[in-house]
Amino acid sequence: MRAKLVVGNWKMNGNLAQSRELLNAIITGTTELPDIVCAVCAPYPYLPAVQLILKDTHVVWGAQNVSQFDLGAYTGEVAAEMLLDFACRYVIVGHSERRSLFGEDNHTVAEKFKKAQGAGLIPILCVGETLAQREIGETERIIEEQLDAVIKLMSIDSLAQSVIAYEPVWAIGTGRTATPVQAQSVHAFIRNKIAQQNAGVAASVQILYGGSVKSSNASDLFAMSDIDGGLIGGASLIANEFISICSAAQH
Ligand code: PEP
Repeated sequence: MRAKLVVGNWKMNGNLAQSRELLNAIITGTTELPDIVCAVCAPYPYLPAVQLILKDTHVVWGAQNVSQFDLGAYTGEVAAEMLLDFACRYVIVGHSERRSLFGEDNHTVAEKFKKAQGAGLIPILCVGETLAQREIGETERIIEEQLDAVIKLMSIDSLAQSVIAYEPVWAIGTGRTATPVQAQSVHAFIRNKIAQQNAGVAASVQILYGGSVKSSNASDLFAMSDIDGGLIGGASLIANEFISICSAAQH
């Protein structure tokens, strides 16, 4: 039985005061949800405050990106070891905004996955197709390529120490959500693909859905057999919405 996981991706939003307020509301609002894990991925500068507020609570935290390089002359980058200094558990790799706006290809994403995992972080590997790719029937091929880049560089076993997030690009920040049936079909494809190489990993790996998840659609999505929780963007910035989404995962 896989535990449900709900991760807030704050993206480049908020300020220190708002972050503190949001975190305190999340701690209070999710205390009665013993069966799920609730996490937030905050902007780098707020990680010390996040650590201070969340340590000794049930809420865990992480970052939204990590460098594919070891410590060295990489201006503006943040190494996996640095994230450990702030006790991050998770780091998102390959978010579609990183892929489309910052030119991260499958190989770079796989390198980031490797550095994160090598340092002891749990990478949340984002995969997903654009609308154009879906419309020409390329969804599974695109996702397979995104997964294969990691499997080739690492191994199928490495996925056991990771989380996968299926995030159709056309559903991110658009208000347009994949239907539970659409999402479940891709989640099942991902799990079956992994099962062909390692049934144990396939059975245990958490596969989250991301893309305009709200309190109004979370329950239906989380009820699907291969959806193990959500990666939440916009709605994770609104305390009551995020708490309701976490509650939906508990049920
Ligand atoms: C995301 O950024 O990972 C995401 C799913 O965003 P939203 O929930 O706003 O669509």
